[in-house]
Amino acid sequence: MLVRHVRSRKAAVRMAAFLPPESAFTVDFFFMKNSAFLCDVVVVECADEYSIAKRMRKLKYFFRIIMVAAAALCCSCGNGESGARDSAAVLENGSSEESEYGGTGRQEIGANRYVDTAMGTVIQQTVYASEETAADFYVKSMALLKELEEERLSWRLETSEVWRINGTAGNEEGCGISEETAGVLRDCVELYERSDGAFDVTLGALTRLWNIDKWAAGGLDDGEADGFRLPSSADVEHALKLCGSDKIRLAAAGLGEGEPRVFLPEGMGLDLGAVGKGLAQSGLQGLLEAEEGVAGAVISLGGSILTFGDKPDGSPWKVGIVNPFDTSSNVGTLSLKGQWCVSTSGDYERYVEKDGVRYHHILDPHTGYPAVSDVRGVTILAKNGTLSDGLSTACFLLGPERGMELAEEYEVEVLFVMSDGQIVMSEGMETYFTEF
Ligand code: AMP
Ligand code: MG
Repeated sequence: MLVRHVRSRKAAVRMAAFLPPESAFTVDFFFMKNSAFLCDVVVVECADEYSIAKRMRKLKYFFRIIMVAAAALCCSCGNGESGARDSAAVLENGSSEESEYGGTGRQEIGANRYVDTAMGTVIQQTVYASEETAADFYVKSMALLKELEEERLSWRLETSEVWRINGTAGNEEGCGISEETAGVLRDCVELYERSDGAFDVTLGALTRLWNIDKWAAGGLDDGEADGFRLPSSADVEHALKLCGSDKIRLAAAGLGEGEPRVFLPEGMGLDLGAVGKGLAQSGLQGLLEAEEGVAGAVISLGGSILTFGDKPDGSPWKVGIVNPFDTSSNVGTLSLKGQWCVSTSGDYERYVEKDGVRYHHILDPHTGYPAVSDVRGVTILAKNGTLSDGLSTACFLLGPERGMELAEEYEVEVLFVMSDGQIVMSEGMETYFTEF
């Protein structure tokens, strides 16, 4: 049993933004095992005037933060055997990396910060509102994300719609689904058609064969990475036959009664991983709109960013776009005002390296293998989260020429970081993007 040790003070310092200002701390290292993140050595010092009770409360808070920090650290460890990395991050002043969700941000008046985990990723929120309103929103938002994962999206949990749909593949009577899920599937099938089959949410058989969700858990440690099994071409061929959004059949609800139904052929499995965070962004957006008293908010879901409203000082939200060649830095920032969804797909986000070959998590539905592309990362800027998330995956596969056309059709902005380091973007994106 081997555990992987990760060292990064920078990431730990970033997380310090979430600590009470009086806390001083050092973090020696974290380790990760089977996606449970454990903190190995932590030393905390609080200012003297703090009572023991307050200190204990802060320690509890601190340890919670550290658990999440460990997740973030593991996610940011892109140089090892395998890894997962957030693709965009909220910058507090947009000029330096060390400001990323930290440093100066703490002094913002009315900024309520929360960090937690949901949907297998780190959720960071800054909500400009009264403490009470922000806390209320935070609780509701975490419940929404939990529900989205457990009741709708997870293909592993028996409680979810996707699990039920996959379980009824091949049944003549299909599976009754919610209007929301029917709407998502319709949008996904449309994107499949408009992306010439590049974007395909029926790749369940393939993503399971490649074991992609294991990579998503923050990377495999050395021992497990050694256990990574390259699927045989026969297995890939076989799984490929069980994929194809053109084989899904959707039936609308009957007039005034019943529910929509979906019919999958036997052996087919849905994997909504490419739109999961986008759906979460859309859900949170609705929640923010309904919550009275939130002036502005910025929420990062493992690198997918949702901005809402305004900062009290009127300055724009700064969203950094990760440099795929050095994931501890950014290629530039987006300056955004009001409500936006930013999604990025890249070959550095989840991958396994084996015998010098990098296998990443975006599969080409035409071959069944990780897409071979001149693109390292694609960022989409859109008003709608699901669209933004789906299109970032689709455009990664399509490349800049065709991807740009698709983005234009959907009226969103797109930015490509190419494998030669070049940045290619839509005209509209130039308004928001500043290159470092
Ligand atoms: P994203 O990080 O949003 O680009 O989504 C990638 C995730 O979507 C992967 O981890 C898979 O679960 C799934 N996926 C992989 N390839 C595709 C594809 N070609 N179309 C749709 N979903 C995909
Ligand atoms: Mg996506």
